[in-house]
Amino acid sequence: MPEITVTAIPAFTDNYIWLVSSGGKQCAVVDPGDAAPVEAMLRRHGLELSYILLTHHHPDHTGGVATLAAAHDAKIYGPHDPRIAGQDQSFAEGETVRLPLLELEFSVLEVPGHTSSHIAFFGHGCLFCGDTLFSVGCGRLFEGTPEQMQASMDKLASLPADTQVFCAHEYTLSNCDFALTVEPDNKRLIRRASEVEAARATGRITLPSTIGEELEVNPFFRSRQPSVVAAAQRRQPDAEPGASVFGVIRAWKDSF
Ligand code: ZN
Ligand code: FE
Repeated sequence: MPEITVTAIPAFTDNYIWLVSSGGKQCAVVDPGDAAPVEAMLRRHGLELSYILLTHHHPDHTGGVATLAAAHDAKIYGPHDPRIAGQDQSFAEGETVRLPLLELEFSVLEVPGHTSSHIAFFGHGCLFCGDTLFSVGCGRLFEGTPEQMQASMDKLASLPADTQVFCAHEYTLSNCDFALTVEPDNKRLIRRASEVEAARATGRITLPSTIGEELEVNPFFRSRQPSVVAAAQRRQPDAEPGASVFGVIRAWKDSF
């Protein structure tokens, strides 16, 4: 198996487009919301774009697809969703996305909640989860219920602890502010927050995280932990561990 290399391409104010390669000239990008920074990165590294992977239909993840597709012979793979035009193939839960030119493959996880058709790609120790899981946070529930998003969180939480989490936004600093409000005494979270503050102060990226770390610090991954349940119950006394607590925490974050 070739070594996977993942490089961040910053886009807009806080998006990351992930460039995936494996030692050769060919590469893939995940969620290219903008074509220009991808083109610049391809030129700089002498790479050819062969695959475009999409986690969900939002424009900040798909806006560059048409321009990139016109300029490159790239296959476009994403979820079953008529809102995404021009895909070569759509993928559902449990199916495998094969990138033969990179000798890489990823299994597809359906993770509804942020959007109804959101998927994630998992393989080679890496998770590309779009706007479902963020470091120390999660996506807003635009098209799903707390129950659906809790199930999606559970699915991601079951991946190996050392899985590297490549989410699509640099939201970690503000997510830490909120998480510390929920769990002010969480020592791992306090440490992560100070690391993140130092990283952002010098313009460094805070990703990837890992599933294991998120289990320790991310309140949306911790909706059954007594400290998070207690914080939710101070806002809504009948909140129960799991989706109900998740829903309370999510609504709290929405107005934070
Ligand atoms: Zn989104
Ligand atoms: Fe987004």
